[in-house]
Amino acid sequence: MPELVLIVLCVVGAFVLGMRQAPLWTWVLGFAAAMLIWQSGTLHGEPRALEPGWLGTAGWVLAAILAALCVPSIWRALLVRPLFQQVKRILPRVSETERAALDAGTIGFDAELFSGQPDWGKLRAVPPITLTEEEKAFLDGPTSELCRLVNDWTIRHNDKEIPQEIWDFVKQHGFLGMLISKQHGGLGFSPQAQSLILGRIASRSPDVCTIVMVPNSLGPGELIEKYGTPGQKEHYLPRLAQGLEVPCFSLTGPTSGSDAATMRDVGYVTRGMHEGKEVVGIRLSWEKRYITLGPNATLVGLAFRVFDPDNLLGKGEDRGITVALVPADHPGVEIGRRHLPSGAAFPNGPNWGRDVFIPIDWVIGGEAMVGQGWRMLMECLAAGRSISLPSSAAAGAKSLLRNTSAYARIRKQFDLPIGKMEGLEEPLARMVENAYVNEAARGVTASMVSRGEKPSVISAIMKYQTTERMRRSLNDAMDLHGGRGVCDGPANYLQSAYQMMPVAITVEGANILTRSLITFAQGALRSHPYLYKEIQACQDADDERGLAAFEQAFSDHVSFTVSNLSGALFHNLTGGWFGRVPDKAYGTAEWYRQLWRCSRSFALVADLAVAVLGGGLKTKQKITGRLADALSELYLLACVLKRYEDDGKPAGDRHIVGLCAHNGLWRFQQALRGAVDNFPSLPLRWLMRLAAFPLGARYKPAPDWLGHTCVELVLAPGEVRDRLTRYIYVSDNPNDPTGLLEVTFAKAVAAEAAEKKLDRAVRQGRVRRVHGTDWIGEAADQGVISDDEARLLREVEALTARVIAVDHFDPAELRPHYMTAGHNARAVQSAAAE
Ligand SMILES: Cc1cc2nc3c(=O)[nH]c(=O)nc-3n(C[C@H](O)[C@H](O)[C@H](O)COP(=O)(O)OP(=O)(O)OC[C@H]3O[C@@H](n4cnc5c(N)ncnc54)[C@H](O)[C@@H]3O)c2cc1C
Repeated sequence: MPELVLIVLCVVGAFVLGMRQAPLWTWVLGFAAAMLIWQSGTLHGEPRALEPGWLGTAGWVLAAILAALCVPSIWRALLVRPLFQQVKRILPRVSETERAALDAGTIGFDAELFSGQPDWGKLRAVPPITLTEEEKAFLDGPTSELCRLVNDWTIRHNDKEIPQEIWDFVKQHGFLGMLISKQHGGLGFSPQAQSLILGRIASRSPDVCTIVMVPNSLGPGELIEKYGTPGQKEHYLPRLAQGLEVPCFSLTGPTSGSDAATMRDVGYVTRGMHEGKEVVGIRLSWEKRYITLGPNATLVGLAFRVFDPDNLLGKGEDRGITVALVPADHPGVEIGRRHLPSGAAFPNGPNWGRDVFIPIDWVIGGEAMVGQGWRMLMECLAAGRSISLPSSAAAGAKSLLRNTSAYARIRKQFDLPIGKMEGLEEPLARMVENAYVNEAARGVTASMVSRGEKPSVISAIMKYQTTERMRRSLNDAMDLHGGRGVCDGPANYLQSAYQMMPVAITVEGANILTRSLITFAQGALRSHPYLYKEIQACQDADDERGLAAFEQAFSDHVSFTVSNLSGALFHNLTGGWFGRVPDKAYGTAEWYRQLWRCSRSFALVADLAVAVLGGGLKTKQKITGRLADALSELYLLACVLKRYEDDGKPAGDRHIVGLCAHNGLWRFQQALRGAVDNFPSLPLRWLMRLAAFPLGARYKPAPDWLGHTCVELVLAPGEVRDRLTRYIYVSDNPNDPTGLLEVTFAKAVAAEAAEKKLDRAVRQGRVRRVHGTDWIGEAADQGVISDDEARLLREVEALTARVIAVDHFDPAELRPHYMTAGHNARAVQSAAAE
């Protein structure tokens, strides 16, 4: 029995030392004390001389080794130096382009999650969604006006083109220069405002959103604003802001897609004639494809690799990736042909050129920035990726929810609104969750960017998670609408998003790559507290300086690992009960505790994965993909809690937060469990399982009753439904397909009581509901319903007939334009084939 007490004390002591990241000598002291107590007989009250035995001898040998390692010179000689040499040998060199990607952007709350001990203060310090008066007026003024002007069907079906009046409107109101500073003639709006404006437009037309998004995302405007020469800023920024120039940005080529840095587009520094004078410039050959706005562009941002064989610039031959501004009408620039991406109407196409001479001062930033292109792109990417696609994915999830829940309330089958059927409640509950989560993460991340962060890992999470969630919502919305969603026409408000969803999945880093490579494999290097420091130390050209830096980082890393191990085990054994909770977490304390607990488990598994897989992380993508999912769930749940608090914890949203938290924790567990179960090392698999799942996988998805409660909240008009779908464009025009839904939804709910009376009369056989009879009139005549109720029911019936109607066409109307115009399209597959 006394031995048992000693063992318990030792275990508790180990937990305390481990979790507090105590130095090694305290472990040695604790271990020696325990050995002495055990061997001296003190436990049984019979002090005696030490009797080692084989176990005792082994214990003292271990204590001696640990004690020796406490001496810095021994620690260095026996452990750190051999390890340093070994790591140096096996570590793959981080290439220049990888280093640029790693050094670009900022580390933010993602590092807190990687640390296993998130500082909630840092999350709460992110300001809530705020707009200036001017930004609010723009959102509710020109942005809503633009939405009213847009006819999505005409754009994507009839015109297959953005109408000139829309181009004129966006140029006239400065939509194309939202990110350009006021000083240079732009609107100078915050990323939060840009995000909300883009989202509102996206909720109306993905095509129109795209033509506004591209100039306000990574491209000429941002690059000139950040790196341009004074001359470039003065000339181009006001012209871009007013829409006098339409920009595009050309990075992708036929052989360089996801791996854009391997581009074969090349420029040789040489002398040539420009405007009648001989100047130093670059002779360029390139082939780009998929370039959005390309066919309409007047100014082409072009990325290519520069060589200076005659060393005219004096900095060696291979100068690296460079970005230049090339007017689209410059001789030799071939541009204007179009791709047809997923039925979209926004302009997109290839461009190319052979031996085109440009003066050196067309390089963004001038001669000094030759070779700096990749760094410039990476630095701008994190901010842009946090804003553009997450805005439209959040808006998409919200408008899909608003329209689909209205339809589910209006459309009846088996005498029941389809949204009230359990089978459809499931997808609707998922849509509620996606709308809440996407908007929460959008808002928090845009606020981070607004205060100057460029969160590289978080932007990757946002890109793939928000677009994947929107894709899920779209599929759910399509299922829920049945044939009404499948058949296209002016009345179909789902098709444009459905057709264009693959574009959002593919651009700005295709989702599979973003999930499995960027978020965790590269993210771990950025957000892990010690890993990048260790790698940098190993790559230091000065061996001794590298060793010293490595020793510091490695020592901290060891105690970090031990802390994660004990922390994860402790919090998983105690069900997260002791997880750290921030002040004033009324109603959310339990979720904070669980987040803390999960963060502990994630930190342990991530750390061991990084330590064991090392350079192999890039290829072990099933493991890194799952770890990316696990990290994403933690970030998204943190955003959910932050949104709920920022909104003042509205009572109506409590269940929605619960739904998001239950499902988020469950998905986190699935992802982490998957990574552990498939981890390539058996002993570590067991160790991870012991610490992260000592009592098995305990989280469960949200219970059915919770999904039901949340769906009830959106099947009725009210503040919860409005808050869930805030900031999107909501039409009240019954001649607009979504406006018709809004009007009908409100009336259908108002007519519910009368409807019930009528249904009862039909069931009792007092009224016959078949074609050719006026059942509402009959019911009124029989006194089942009042005249007012009859009027309302008739109105609802007429409106409902319009809501459920599906367009049909004369076959001649459906012939493609180019056929009726009497000529055929000629497809060409590459510039080389021209
Ligand atoms: C409509 C549209 C608009 C676009 N607009 C522009 C624009 O304005 N400017 C511009 O420069 N580019 C633009 N792009 C290009 C876009 O950025 C690329 O399509 C994208 O980078 C993917 O390249 P890819 O299509 O060649 O696919 P690939 O690179 O061939 O990828 C195919 C698949 O392999 C996966 N994959 C590739 N490498 C890895 C890896 N290491 N690990 C895991 N998975 C991997 C990808 O995730 C993807 O699923 C646009 C594309 C489209 C379709």
